[in-house]
Amino acid sequence: MNLASPTLGILGGGQLGRMLAMAAAQLGIRCHIYAPERDSVAAEVAAAFTCAPWHDSQGLARFAAACSAITYEFENIPVEPMKALPAHKLNPALRALEVAQDRLKEKRFIEDLGGRPAPYHPVDSIEDLRTAMDRIGTPGILKTRRDGYDGKGQWRIESRRDADAIRLPNTGLVYEGLVRFAAEFSVILVRGADGEIRFWDSAQNVHADGILATSTLPPAPVVLEQVADARALAAKVADTLGYVGVLTLEFFATADGPVFNEMAPRVHNSGHWTIEGARTSQFENHVRAVCGLPLGDTSLTARGIAMRNLIGDDALSASALLADPANHLHLYGKAETRAGRKMGHVTRLEP
Ligand code: AMP
Repeated sequence: MNLASPTLGILGGGQLGRMLAMAAAQLGIRCHIYAPERDSVAAEVAAAFTCAPWHDSQGLARFAAACSAITYEFENIPVEPMKALPAHKLNPALRALEVAQDRLKEKRFIEDLGGRPAPYHPVDSIEDLRTAMDRIGTPGILKTRRDGYDGKGQWRIESRRDADAIRLPNTGLVYEGLVRFAAEFSVILVRGADGEIRFWDSAQNVHADGILATSTLPPAPVVLEQVADARALAAKVADTLGYVGVLTLEFFATADGPVFNEMAPRVHNSGHWTIEGARTSQFENHVRAVCGLPLGDTSLTARGIAMRNLIGDDALSASALLADPANHLHLYGKAETRAGRKMGHVTRLEP
């Protein structure tokens, strides 16, 4: 990328785009946000904003012409219109989006690489669901193949009676056996344009109602024992996809080793602690990677790190959080507070 007047285009206008744009600004890189919603917390901190639908081919062409490199911060962007973007400018490549957008494709991809997802069965009808329960047993979780996030598009199935009562949505689904895990953790890596891979330390993640609540380092010993295997799989995913940028894989640490949960072809909520807790944050390294710049040091700046999400009304305690000098507070500037909505996060370091 030409560093004389670089502009990084970001598809998606949420808090991940906002934090990417803030990291880019530190490197003198301007960001141009492309998002369909007028209210964009990323556009507020960016140099330019195209507010247009994903399928607006002219809007996308003008956006691409104005950018020296393009990335995305949201994995549910429709892939088809993005194929018109110049492939040499776009990272991670669209193949990563195609895999990550479909839970079934993603699980098969991971199995092909030698990884182990939770036991699963595709479901397109109530008969399929019964077969899935016969094969895998209950309890389990029925998930939409596409467009699910933060626990949306998921139904817990305790028994066959739940399955009889359910009205299946008119979309492809997958049934997963409930994994008995000792802990959850994520592997976050950055892969540069030259294929170099760097990992951040793995945080232990706790979810509440399907939404990430906390990420803590160091993680429990069971996680530390399983990180090497999980990293090997994540590196294989990145190499196979010819991936450039930050990639996240989420795992369950079980008695039989790491079980793959899902991947995100982007910076991730469980890596927000890297802003203060690592020498180079996931946001800065993503910007560096997709702009073809050298990668930064991913090592820790503290021994103990705790990130807590501020969800819904949690953000009302902002001034109390600011009163404690140990807190690093991040608010995303969202105008409307809603239950279950990520409004910000707070990170604490223990030297
Ligand atoms: P997901 O959106 O699929 O990552 O699910 C969100 C959270 O729900 C996970 O991080 C887990 O805490 C829980 N969860 C999802 N799938 C399973 C599973 N098959 N077994 C146990 N817990 C699960």
